[in-house]
Amino acid sequence: MNLDAHWMPFTPNQSFKAAPRMISSAQGMYYTTVDGDQILDMSAGLWCSNLGHGRQRIAEAMYQTARQLDYCPSFNFGHPLAFELAERLAQQSPADLKHVFFTTSGSSSVDTALKLTLAYHRAVGQASRQLFVARERAYHGVNLGGTAVGGITGNTREYGTWGNVDYIPHTLDIDRNAFSKGLPEFGIELADDLERRVALHGAENVAAVIVEPIAGAGGMILPPRGYLKRLREICDEHGILLIFDEVICAFGRVGAFSGSIEFDVIPDLYTTAKGLTSGTIPMGAVFCSHKIHDAIMQSTKDGIEFRHGYTYSAHPVACAAALACLDIYEEEALFTRASGQISRYLEQVLHNLKDLEYVIDIRNYGLLGAIEFEPQDPATPLGDRIFAEAWNQGLMIRGLGNMVIVSPPLTIEQGHIDEFAEKLWQSIRTVVRTPKSAHASGIS
Ligand code: PLP
Repeated sequence: MNLDAHWMPFTPNQSFKAAPRMISSAQGMYYTTVDGDQILDMSAGLWCSNLGHGRQRIAEAMYQTARQLDYCPSFNFGHPLAFELAERLAQQSPADLKHVFFTTSGSSSVDTALKLTLAYHRAVGQASRQLFVARERAYHGVNLGGTAVGGITGNTREYGTWGNVDYIPHTLDIDRNAFSKGLPEFGIELADDLERRVALHGAENVAAVIVEPIAGAGGMILPPRGYLKRLREICDEHGILLIFDEVICAFGRVGAFSGSIEFDVIPDLYTTAKGLTSGTIPMGAVFCSHKIHDAIMQSTKDGIEFRHGYTYSAHPVACAAALACLDIYEEEALFTRASGQISRYLEQVLHNLKDLEYVIDIRNYGLLGAIEFEPQDPATPLGDRIFAEAWNQGLMIRGLGNMVIVSPPLTIEQGHIDEFAEKLWQSIRTVVRTPKSAHASGIS
């Protein structure tokens, strides 16, 4: 097979094409390679296959809909599945976050949320509010809005400045919080940096704060206890909107329908994608409050209230997939499964790796976990090497520089976690060679 033409996203194309990792099928917790090897999926694909792979019910729903209504424009036309889906999602959504705008991905959800924010402030006569406060190490997708508020410098540095953005610090503090289980104890005061940003720019110029409740691609960074509430308080004091980017956190990843429910902090808007269709077809959704919705609706008495949308917004086949996913989430009680025994088991297994050579932090929440290694050779960080070795061992994890991250399907069972532990241990041992103590080998 000629691999030249496909320019792969976020991939070192040349090394991939020299030694491709090719997948041909997926079922349950496993991928199968083109060579027939089984790979345990501890990443839910790319944080999205929350229901596990190969769900016939979703495939069937998409197939039937594609046969009946392959496409329907969402500008000036509607179809029943879109309204049914929005209604079902609104029922799950907390507080008055009951208005759902469909997008095509996490990135398009983020850009939609940023534009809704600007449209809201204009609608209420506060057009000077144009500055977004984002956070270091944030990942908000790759469109220009998301790039502008992104905080992972490697992803943004080459593309210049696209918006009016300032940053507050990230909340990873390994010195004080290493090996925390659940939310870390120290760091609530980091939220107060928002006060300083507001004082510097003037509240009348600040549109919104955008944060991931748990930062994913920046390194599975948890909010210290009380931190998100403090951000909410400061936003309220100054009339600033709070946007949660829940593209990873929503749909059961942290033990509830959304991070806002789990952490009991209600934003003004939040973004979703990924778990909405369990990765089966691209789709995203932005949820916003009555306040925002009504202000924008009333700003235009007649005509298009919000000049924004995608050809594929509320695509019928994606709506059918999302409805089938909602049925499964509800019937199998998967929104809350990550707050139960299975996540405690994952926590225990992860923290058993504490004494391995070079491990400087292990953190976890719900069905999310990260192991961070002491920086070694910057050209070949340990996390990336362990990721590559894990594939050889039949394990899919995320390697992010000095970290490895896991975010398995919510359907994971204890036996899979045991298999993961064994394979991860083998992978780390192969890469690192020398464990610090016999204790760590207890997991294998
Ligand atoms: N926002 C967050 C928090 C994400 O984690 C991601 C993707 O990982 C995105 C936005 C972008 O989503 P997509 O890749 O679907 O555009």
